[in-house]
Amino acid sequence: MGKFYEAIIMGGGPAGLTAGIYLRRAGIETLLVEKGIVGGTPMNYEHVENYPGFPEGVSSKELMNRIADQARRFGLVIKEFIEIEEVSRRGKRFLIKAGEEEIECLGIIVATGTESMKIGIPGENELVGRGISYCATCDGAFFRNLDVAVIGGGDAAIQEGLALANIARKVYVIHRRDTLKAQKIIQERAFQNSRMEFLWNKTPVEIKGKDQVESITIKDTKTGELSEVKVDGVFIYVGARPRTAFLGDLVDRDGAGFVITDEELGSKTEGLFIAGDVRRKGLRQIATAVGDGALAAVSCERFILEHR
Ligand SMILES: Cc1cc2nc3c(=O)[nH]c(=O)nc-3n(C[C@H](O)[C@H](O)[C@H](O)COP(=O)(O)OP(=O)(O)OC[C@H]3O[C@@H](n4cnc5c(N)ncnc54)[C@H](O)[C@@H]3O)c2cc1C
Repeated sequence: MGKFYEAIIMGGGPAGLTAGIYLRRAGIETLLVEKGIVGGTPMNYEHVENYPGFPEGVSSKELMNRIADQARRFGLVIKEFIEIEEVSRRGKRFLIKAGEEEIECLGIIVATGTESMKIGIPGENELVGRGISYCATCDGAFFRNLDVAVIGGGDAAIQEGLALANIARKVYVIHRRDTLKAQKIIQERAFQNSRMEFLWNKTPVEIKGKDQVESITIKDTKTGELSEVKVDGVFIYVGARPRTAFLGDLVDRDGAGFVITDEELGSKTEGLFIAGDVRRKGLRQIATAVGDGALAAVSCERFILEHR
């Protein structure tokens, strides 16, 4: 890996890749560093039907591969399986530590997205990978004709519950309220699906199993009554936490840890721009991540041209 790039993009999801397209088309020497495979969160689910330009919907992997190909065509250098560990100032430049590597740059775009939150109940840590999962696309196939529970009531929970209903025998949706937060169109599909059963006003209190998940204990949020549901798998979608630890105090965060930006997607540190799900914003979707990537890139380009 070279020692200096004008711009470094951290994270290869929709926001980071779009920033790469814009920076490279502006002629900025840019490296994108991704800790896994390029494509971001959409590589973990199947289908997208609300991204403009695809009337029939599109495979989320195909969409991301096409965006990555477009970025590469303009000369974006992409390094996969390298995790950014620390960012600091070195004079007018930034110094980035990633494994054994140290790289310097003038401008940074942070597009590192979010990671799934745990519920924090007994059995969760012990049974991860042994029936507990945070990704139906990755692990759903292990539950063919078995019974599973999905925890949560937002878009991710219901969308993934629907995907699981194509594989599993039964999908229990365990939700602490009596209405869902998910988009109406997804809710309607779930209510019509005979394999999905909704357990309203329930919170999980323990996941049990010797070597594999065997059951989940749930508590009624109104009466406090405990009951046990026999399941082979538990899929958890209770929210997401932004990945920003490597930024230290270079940025300001809100109470939930999302990075606070100005209108040009700048942070409190000059030259450090933020795009996508990792920042405080009203809607976390591919369309908004792509928009952020474009704006952060143009802001970063302006900064670099002034400080070259
Ligand atoms: C189950 C599910 C279904 C969804 N369905 C839809 C949908 O139908 N339509 C829609 O528009 N949106 C959907 N979304 C939301 C959408 O996926 C996100 O809004 C979008 O991916 C955000 O893009 P991003 O680039 O900000 O972050 P991400 O896509 O999360 O990409 C961030 C990247 O940064 C990398 N990274 C993190 N830390 C580091 C580090 N330290 N060093 C290097 N790389 C790092 C990660 O590995 C990741 O690849 C869904 C989300 C989920 C969870």
